[in-house]
Amino acid sequence: MRVLSLPMRTRFRGITEREVVLLPGAAGWGEWSPFVEYDAAEAAPWLACAREAAAGDWPAPVRDRVPVNVTVPAVYPARAHRIVTAGGCRTAKVKVAERGQTLADDEARVEAVRDALGPHGRIRVDANGGWDVDAAVTAIARLDRAAGGLEYVEQPVAEVEDLALVRRRVSVPVAADESIRRAADPYRVRDLEAADVAVLKVQPLGGVRACLRVAEEIGLPVVVSSALETSVGIAAGVALAAALPELPYACGLATVQLLGDDVALAPLLPVDGELPVGVPEVDAAALDRLAAPPERVAWWQERLAAAEAAR
Ligand SMILES: [Mg+2]
Repeated sequence: MRVLSLPMRTRFRGITEREVVLLPGAAGWGEWSPFVEYDAAEAAPWLACAREAAAGDWPAPVRDRVPVNVTVPAVYPARAHRIVTAGGCRTAKVKVAERGQTLADDEARVEAVRDALGPHGRIRVDANGGWDVDAAVTAIARLDRAAGGLEYVEQPVAEVEDLALVRRRVSVPVAADESIRRAADPYRVRDLEAADVAVLKVQPLGGVRACLRVAEEIGLPVVVSSALETSVGIAAGVALAAALPELPYACGLATVQLLGDDVALAPLLPVDGELPVGVPEVDAAALDRLAAPPERVAWWQERLAAAEAAR
């Protein structure tokens, strides 16, 4: 196994260094990169995803390119504008409801994104559960105006019961993310009619084939999103997006650019708003350049054993 430490371009999820593990298998590398605060049980499905990738056990694709959105962190408007312009995508996902910021900050960021995208681009916002029900209803209406129409709002509130309440009070479609991937029962979203869109991430849900089953069972249009992986991990998300029978929305897989480095010879960055389907070739020099210090390797080896035991 290779333990790597990648610098982040921008602080995201409160981190500035992203640690990932590449595990070898019959078909190549699989990425295992559960966030460091997750316990063994929560890290176990991430491991199933890495093993599936390394074994090359992915379903056949039904498309060869996947449309993606550019992700805009909770940055100042001028920076948001630059990120969207540089991204070359026709859909933008804007982070909102960041702690320490105001709704006016979110409106200004969304307005800057609309300016950068032009009138035909699509804008979605992601609150990561940062509002309560009433705050969400107010914020969604104001951000919908600032955007000149939102495509959807992702996880406006944390609890799935609240998500169902918000959905009944707003006209903007609601997407569930944390309510699926960190929930004991991802199908509560379906049973409570709490969302219009399901955001699926291959690592937390146990791999590409496991996600295809969730997609079928949950009965909602799917947006495949990333968990801040390198190109190796992103390729698993792309494999899911490529295998879904329908793909009505751009996916949240253009996140390699949030990292300051990558492991692939040709990093999975969007061209004309799309990613190619396939397995990226790993750059041996990058594995050396990004190698984590020995104490972190030891920490991950122990964690791997614990996650393996929890599977
Ligand atoms: Mg999200």
